[in-house]
Amino acid sequence: MSGRLRAAPGLDLDFVRFGDGGGPAVTVLGGVHGDEMEGVLAAYRVADLLASTPVRGTVTVLPRANPPALAAGTRHGDGDANLARLFPGDPGGGLSERIAHTIATALIDPCDLLIDLHSAGRRYRMPPMCGFGAGRTLGGRPLLDAARATPFPYLWAHASVAPGRSVSHADALGKPWAYFESGGGGALREADIDLYAQGVLRLLEVAGAAEPVSFAGPPPARQVVVTGGDGNTDTGVLFGSAGVFVSSVAAGDTVAAGQTIGAVYDDGGQCAEVVRADASGVVMMLRHDLRVTPGEVAAIIAGEDGRAA
Ligand SMILES: [Zn+2]
Repeated sequence: MSGRLRAAPGLDLDFVRFGDGGGPAVTVLGGVHGDEMEGVLAAYRVADLLASTPVRGTVTVLPRANPPALAAGTRHGDGDANLARLFPGDPGGGLSERIAHTIATALIDPCDLLIDLHSAGRRYRMPPMCGFGAGRTLGGRPLLDAARATPFPYLWAHASVAPGRSVSHADALGKPWAYFESGGGGALREADIDLYAQGVLRLLEVAGAAEPVSFAGPPPARQVVVTGGDGNTDTGVLFGSAGVFVSSVAAGDTVAAGQTIGAVYDDGGQCAEVVRADASGVVMMLRHDLRVTPGEVAAIIAGEDGRAA
């Protein structure tokens, strides 16, 4: 069935629901950020797949979680508000706070698993990955086991999560949660959308919410588990200079602490700053959009978990 949530006058959130209303209940969000179309398209693809898949629980898919931001094609929505910093929202606040409140109360509070589909957006690049709450369980087993069932080559185990995200609200309620990232740079790749759709279906399978679905192609040869950080993309290696950024590594590369990951050049072509890794680990986010200003994030590097890898 399809349904509609009214977040504010003239602002509706359209969802699709599969199953009989029983548990386990899973919520899938796309489009929390308006320049991350991978999650939107993947959510529609998941809905198409579920239309022909036996669902044992209740799966609710909201492909376009942030209509104002999606309409503008920008990361942030109404009033330059970042929806992923406003959960659990406020019914008396601005449009974005009302959207957060509506999603939190109608789709996160009642769910047993939250999956939030993001991507690197226009300004960044990220390797395909599944981030998840390291201390949470799904189907009686560590959530890491469920993440391993997805086709993502990178898995990011978060011991804590910064406040305000959809997954922060789920985490505060003690629920298991996962988010996906990939791609970015303002372009879409079919392979990323395929990974998302397969990843969601695998998590639904582990949660006991849907029957297994077979996909073409082999599973990833190796999965790298990284730890550290709370998933806050507003912090990391920061630029100290204005200019254009030239990267010397790629998202997903393994780097050593102090290694050069790029440089900022001024308008006279002179190197204004050498940007270095602040730790050893995997480059999980890397600036793509070329013109940078001081204080913006150049990269996020997460340590590889030798025990879990
Ligand atoms: Zn996002």
